[in-house]
Amino acid sequence: MHDVVELRSDTFTLPTPAMRETMANAEVGDDVWEEDPTVKRLEALAAARLGKERSLFVASGTMGNLTALLSHTRHGQEIILDLDSHIFNYEVGSAAWIGGLQTRPIKTERGFLSPDQVRDAIRPANIHIPSTGLVCLENTHNRHSGTCCTPEEINAVAEVAHAHDVPVHLDGARLFNAAAALKRDVKEFTRPVDSVMVSLSKGLAAPVGSMLAGSADVIATARRIRKMLGGGMRQVGVLAAAGIIALERMVDRLDEDHRNARRLAEALAAVPGVRVDLTKVQTNIVIFSVARPGGVEALVEGALARKVRIHRISEQSIRLVTHKDIDEEDVDRALEAFREITRGWK
Ligand SMILES: *Cc1c(COP(=O)(O)O)cnc(C)c1O
Repeated sequence: MHDVVELRSDTFTLPTPAMRETMANAEVGDDVWEEDPTVKRLEALAAARLGKERSLFVASGTMGNLTALLSHTRHGQEIILDLDSHIFNYEVGSAAWIGGLQTRPIKTERGFLSPDQVRDAIRPANIHIPSTGLVCLENTHNRHSGTCCTPEEINAVAEVAHAHDVPVHLDGARLFNAAAALKRDVKEFTRPVDSVMVSLSKGLAAPVGSMLAGSADVIATARRIRKMLGGGMRQVGVLAAAGIIALERMVDRLDEDHRNARRLAEALAAVPGVRVDLTKVQTNIVIFSVARPGGVEALVEGALARKVRIHRISEQSIRLVTHKDIDEEDVDRALEAFREITRGWK
C-alpha cells in the first residue's frame, strides 16, 4: 500500500533500490566517444532482447521516435501513421517541425493500420506526388487503452510496405506489455520492422530513457541524428545502469500490472454512471467514460481528495494506468473512492 495511489501514468514509477545502487556504482566514460562501458552493455542487451543488430540509448521515447523518423526518411517525404498514434498526437509535431515530413494520418478502428489501408496510402511514383518514406505502427496502443496487435498483424503490414521499398518503424513504448499480454517473445513483434523504440521509463521503472533498435546501418545513422538533436550524452552510464535493471528484472513482472488493470476495469464496470469497454483492457491501461455532466470533474477531484490520482483525457473520459508502484490494496482504495464519489449516480 502506498500513501498516494498514483494511477495517472506508469511514467510515475520510481526507480527501485537496486537501480539506485547500480547507478551510484556504474562504470562510466564519454558516450559520445562511445567509451561508456555501461551504455555499451545496455545497448548490447537491448539489441539482443529485441532481436536487432544494434540499439541506441536515447533520452526519451519522443527522441527515439523522431530519431527513427529522421533516420529512415528525407525532407519532404510523407509518412503513414494511425490518426490516434502517439507520434501524430503527442510529439509536438516534430515530424513536420524538424523532419520536414508530411504526415498521412489514417483513421483506424483499433489503432492498427490494416495491410489494405497501407497499400492504398502508399504513393505511386509521379512527379506531382510526395513519396512515401515510412510506415509507423504503435504497440501497445496508448490512445486505444493499451490494446495489442499480434506479430502476424505487424508482419502483414510490413510485407506490404517492404514490397514498395518503404521501411516500417514500430513505436513500442510499451511493447513488453504487449509481449506479456499475448504471451509471445518480444522478438516476434520486432522481426518484421526496420526499427523499434521501447521505453525503459514507463512500466519498466527506469528514471530516464528509451532504446531505439535496428540494423547496424540504421543505428549508425540514428547515432548521428541523435547527436544533431542534442541527445549525445557523456557519462550517461549512470542512467544506462538503471536501464539494464529495467530490462533484466522488470519485464517479467508486467503480468501483475495487467491483472491489477483487469480487476480495476471489471469492478469499475459495475460502478453507476461509468462505462468501460472491457474488451479493450488488455494490458495496464484502463480508459472509462462518464456521460453525466460534471461527472469527470467530480471523479478527478473527489479521487484527489482521497489521495487517488487519476488522469482526465477528454471531456468525458478518464485514464488509469497500473504499474509496479500500484498493488492490490491500492486498487481497492481507488475502487472504494470511486464508489463513494458515485454514490447516488445512475
Ligand atoms: C510515452 C510514449 C511515447 C513517448 O515517450 P516519452 O519518453 O514520454 O517521450 C511514445 N509513444 C508511445 C506509444 C508512448 O506511450
